[in-house]
Amino acid sequence: MTSLGIRVTGTVQGVGFRPFVARIAARQALTGFVANDAAGVSIEVHGSEQAIERFLHDLQTHPPRLADIQRLVTRPLEGAAIPEAFEIKESEQAVGRTAIPPDTAVCEACLEEMRDPRDRRYRYPLIACTDCGPRFTITTGLPYDREHTTMAEFPLCKPCRIEYQDPRSRRYHAQPTACPECGPEIDGGDERLQRAARELREGSIVAIKGIGGYHLACNAADPSAVAKLRARKGRGDKPFAIMARDLQTAERVAQVDDSSTALLRSPAAPIVVLRSRDETVARNVAPGNDTVGVMLPYSGIHHLLFEHGAPPLLVMTSGNLSDEPICTDPAEAEARLSEIADSFVHHNRSIYLPCDDSVLRIVTETPQPIRRSRGIVPAPLPLPVDGPMSIAVGAELKAAACISDGEYAWLSQHIGDTADVETLRVLQETIDLLCEIERVGAERIISDLHPGYLSSRWAYEYAQAHGIEHLAVQHHHAHMASLLVEHDYAPDEPVLAISFDGTGYGLDGSIWGGELLLGSYREAERVGHLAPIALPGGDAATKHPTRSAAAHLHSAGVQWDPRLPPISALGDDTRILASMLASGASCVTTTSAGRLFDAVSALLGVCQEIDYEGQAAIELEARASDRQAVPLDLPLLEADGVLVLDSGTLIAAIAQAVLDDAPIEGVAAGFHDALARALTEAAVRLRERHGVRTVGLTGGVFANRLLTERLRGRLVHEDFGVLVHRVVPPNDGGLALGQVAVANAGGARPWRPA
Ligand code: ZN
Ligand code: ZN
Ligand code: FE
Repeated sequence: MTSLGIRVTGTVQGVGFRPFVARIAARQALTGFVANDAAGVSIEVHGSEQAIERFLHDLQTHPPRLADIQRLVTRPLEGAAIPEAFEIKESEQAVGRTAIPPDTAVCEACLEEMRDPRDRRYRYPLIACTDCGPRFTITTGLPYDREHTTMAEFPLCKPCRIEYQDPRSRRYHAQPTACPECGPEIDGGDERLQRAARELREGSIVAIKGIGGYHLACNAADPSAVAKLRARKGRGDKPFAIMARDLQTAERVAQVDDSSTALLRSPAAPIVVLRSRDETVARNVAPGNDTVGVMLPYSGIHHLLFEHGAPPLLVMTSGNLSDEPICTDPAEAEARLSEIADSFVHHNRSIYLPCDDSVLRIVTETPQPIRRSRGIVPAPLPLPVDGPMSIAVGAELKAAACISDGEYAWLSQHIGDTADVETLRVLQETIDLLCEIERVGAERIISDLHPGYLSSRWAYEYAQAHGIEHLAVQHHHAHMASLLVEHDYAPDEPVLAISFDGTGYGLDGSIWGGELLLGSYREAERVGHLAPIALPGGDAATKHPTRSAAAHLHSAGVQWDPRLPPISALGDDTRILASMLASGASCVTTTSAGRLFDAVSALLGVCQEIDYEGQAAIELEARASDRQAVPLDLPLLEADGVLVLDSGTLIAAIAQAVLDDAPIEGVAAGFHDALARALTEAAVRLRERHGVRTVGLTGGVFANRLLTERLRGRLVHEDFGVLVHRVVPPNDGGLALGQVAVANAGGARPWRPA
């Protein structure tokens, strides 16, 4: 007879973990107990050594659907009293940090009940159990029980209470459980869903409340419905995500490989960016893109809509205006979306925090988040360097906050563009809730170094109001650190980070964005960068690739030939721009990689004006083809011991290729290739000089799959270890995590307002 104590931490509460432990203990005829405690679950088992061995195996190999075991520690128990049975201990007093699971797609067992006319939950779309349903978005505080969710206003009926209290039931302690008798409901019931399905078939735009907020839905195969949605939402070209009725339908519109299938069907049910296949989807769903974002139905509401005959492919876009947070409340939705939606599908299960759909894609057969939100948040991320309890607010675009208890970090859901006041309000509410549920009393707040960001200013004021410290972290260093954290990279091991994005405030006060940084969490030396250029109008130029092209041509000393597409597109602006560049008035100096992509995209006549961030680069990547690849070169120069990638030579060659009528597809491919070759060459030289053997790819530019895969291939060929993002987005959505890591290592700086 052996006795063993086991501690399990991770996402093990509120996911049916204790009844699962009781079941596998019974299978091995073990006695003992399982209980929730402050940081996870504690277990005691008594039995034969082999039985305990098998129990431990089951524990780790077949945990419940939503569980995520992060640590498992065992210790032998000497001279313990041997109990007669195995019991699930109620531990009402345990009020420690409870890992709240993310929201989860409705499970197969619930769907079966929902489709069974004899089941009491027949056609009940807000169905949920221990394995599925909303979690994070309905949590209002701690401890995680029904009283601290928005389900508190729906007292359980007798049959539901019996299930809730029965360890053998699939609904044992399932906080969102409900039924048509006692639970929340769709306004207008099933009839409303049937009518909504018909409205969608007839070309209407319907606002549908789901798990994390409202979607705006329309028939994705109907170009006029899609055009109407674009016009009403004031959305130019930005791609819409679509929801496919089932996997077969998804396969008709996109190339779905095994990794994508697994991702589409995962409990997180994210939007997966896939290579598009044919014209089943209206062209105006994702204009200029060779990819399309697809998800599968993940709530009972979606399933019922399809079963009631909604079109098999629906545009499902966040119910918001531009980059504001997604609407969550019926009154708010009616007020803000009434000009867009023809009708509404409401339900009365309140959403406490908004959560957009997460967006992922597959890079080298591994999922990479582009937007980390519903279904993923609030998973904890262990920090390699401990520090005080802190809050970080990210930068400005695609903002997500991060809080840390010093040992772990929690990156919030995607919040939006914090240049917007409404978004700052959600940022505040998110930080408050995350701090409460993870028991973080922040001792400091960290922001981007940019003196003009609203989020930096907000952090400064927050620090004043709460009497805590405010620090700032350089943008590209934060990108680098976010990548290192997710790879659990050792603090004393240097890495070469290729930190490429659109905009980040540099240590010299100029705008950086094409940076080679050598170092780690604490320090990052700028060992290389793209050649700086003068950019007229600064941030305003980000909306006009035309201007980036003109500025790059000017800097390269290339004549503004009107046969070049951006020059002809400039028209009346040519003189103003030329005089700005000549005098340097209203120009900023930048090494931005994003602006280089913009310039090339404009030069090739692919994109002159953008409607969403990254559009010019996305359309350029979509056009690239190796069939007629044009060889191009991005030479490496050196200035004061720093490598400079001579974009001027590259731009001049591209301009010449355009004048020579070279194929656009081939120049686009040649450009990506030149960049990959030059960066690899830079890494090799820096290895000779500094001995660095690992290269990290981070920043929004690495949402570019072509560049990422080419560069990674070349670096691997040169025997480098290569780090790419798998856990947090390469774009600014992952930045707050890096800010915390840099601050913990002592690499943050004081912030100075503009
Ligand atoms: Zn379920
Ligand atoms: Zn009930
Ligand atoms: Fe960035």
